[in-house]
Amino acid sequence: MVNVVLAERKTAVLTPSSLACLSQIPTVNLTAGCAHGCLYCYTRSYSSYPGEDKVTFYTNTFDKLRDELTRKRRAPKAVYFSPSSDLFQPLPEVLDLGYEILEFLLGRKIGVAFLTKGLIPERHMRLFEENAPLVRAQLGLITLDGAITGVFEPCAPEPAVRLSQAKRLARAGIKTQMRLDPILPGLTDDAESIGRVCGAVAEAGVKHIAASALFLRPSVADSLKRHIRDPSMLDKLLRAFGQGSRMAIHARNSSVFALPVTTRQQMYERVAHEAQLHGLIVHLCACKNPDLASGSCSIAGEWTRNPTAAIQRGLFPDDERS
Ligand code: SF4
Repeated sequence: MVNVVLAERKTAVLTPSSLACLSQIPTVNLTAGCAHGCLYCYTRSYSSYPGEDKVTFYTNTFDKLRDELTRKRRAPKAVYFSPSSDLFQPLPEVLDLGYEILEFLLGRKIGVAFLTKGLIPERHMRLFEENAPLVRAQLGLITLDGAITGVFEPCAPEPAVRLSQAKRLARAGIKTQMRLDPILPGLTDDAESIGRVCGAVAEAGVKHIAASALFLRPSVADSLKRHIRDPSMLDKLLRAFGQGSRMAIHARNSSVFALPVTTRQQMYERVAHEAQLHGLIVHLCACKNPDLASGSCSIAGEWTRNPTAAIQRGLFPDDERS
């Protein structure tokens, strides 16, 4: 049971991100903390993290957002939800506020991009379908194995639900990606597990996946040790980090404990191979793998100043929309 703490937001709602792939558009968090409670969530190490089973909900977000947009000389082309929370946490106040803000932004032709592991309510789905050219969707899916997601993502919907949502979004013409992140060494990084995810993603009609391995921060390692009850599961996961090292990543000027580069390289080669077998295009997260990749995993999609007009002019061919 998550405890929702109400608070007034003191800082700006529209926030620049330190991630290179989010440098073009502002980001918004409706909460600090997230009710999905994923064990690997990096936000556990942020100073704003309210603690487990707690979410800080900012009551003045919409008023502040309206005010900030009014004062801007030029509206942003799009807004990204959410770098350190989830727009579709199973909390009525978050879902209601999220809907209001999405409706407000889309009504002003400001695009919305989101990454979620959550259950997207019907009214939000319809809003996205009605505004398809202005929406970019990424859905997190680390494995099809419900026993693993049940441990690592205890409050997120099961993989089949996320796949069926992805299918519906892609069918509506919304540019949709699945995010295979984090890949868990020793648990979800074998060719069979990756192949099953790729097969299911292709079957859902989605053509792009973004991928990255698990990285450890002290708070994440601590959460894994406290919550994983099966010693062999924990051992498989942590053993893989044995020869790893600290590495600076392009986010929040932070460094993390990384798997050995050869381990990650081989992991990504398996992803590339399985993706190719299923006709998928892979984007490797360069922010978290600066030693192996460059460019962007397109976490927020590509944005032109006027995406509706761009679609009408055929700048996004049909086969690139999902
Ligand atoms: S859904 Fe995202 S923000 Fe929420 S707990 Fe999981 S990883 Fe963290």
